[in-house]
Amino acid sequence: MPKDPVCGMDVDETSAAGRSEYNGAVFHFCSNRCKAEFDKSPAKYARGGPKSGASRKKC
Ligand SMILES: [Zn+2]
Repeated sequence: MPKDPVCGMDVDETSAAGRSEYNGAVFHFCSNRCKAEFDKSPAKYARGGPKSGASRKKC
């Protein structure tokens, strides 16, 4: 199951609220808020992925 790169939640790709492409990879989001956050600075989220241990809730 793909992960929301912004909040680190597991996202079901069939019911994802949004998706974005960056660097040829597709990212799925649990909410439009997370998608907007990703679209603002995709490099930040696409690079390292969600940080383990640090769960920031934005959605
Ligand atoms: Zn999210």
